[in-house]
Amino acid sequence: MARISSTCLTLRDGDWPDPPASPESAPFVAAAKEGRFLLRRCTACGKAHWYPRSLCPFCFGETAWEEASGEGTIYSFTVLAREDPPRAIAYVTLAEGPTMLTSLVACEAGQLAIGQPVRLVFASSKNGTPVPCFRPVGEGDPPWMEPEA
Ligand SMILES: [Zn+2]
Repeated sequence: MARISSTCLTLRDGDWPDPPASPESAPFVAAAKEGRFLLRRCTACGKAHWYPRSLCPFCFGETAWEEASGEGTIYSFTVLAREDPPRAIAYVTLAEGPTMLTSLVACEAGQLAIGQPVRLVFASSKNGTPVPCFRPVGEGDPPWMEPEA
């Protein structure tokens, strides 16, 4: 039994602000709607980066889409417990290298820690655009997050 916390961070599915749409983000959004998380990686220096850009932020080389693992670790986070609903903003370092500003969801704020493994989960914005969020990996899922059969 998980310990009781007053700060449940929900998925907020369908309740996130709509991200700005652009031609550059269209492939990302299309893949995300299929549950795939895309990053761009430089074809010159080989480094991946976030957010997606057509020119490498490290060497200005050309970049290409690739599917990322969706695995990462919490680099830093803060819980906005007084917001309604409460939310947690975090920097998550992806397994592929880049660190992205994101939200931690589907967990209790008290279970979060720097260095903790997290996994991507897409939540929907108000207009149905997938928003990449992260949740802790492994045991300890709150009962209200049990996947539906
Ligand atoms: Zn590069």
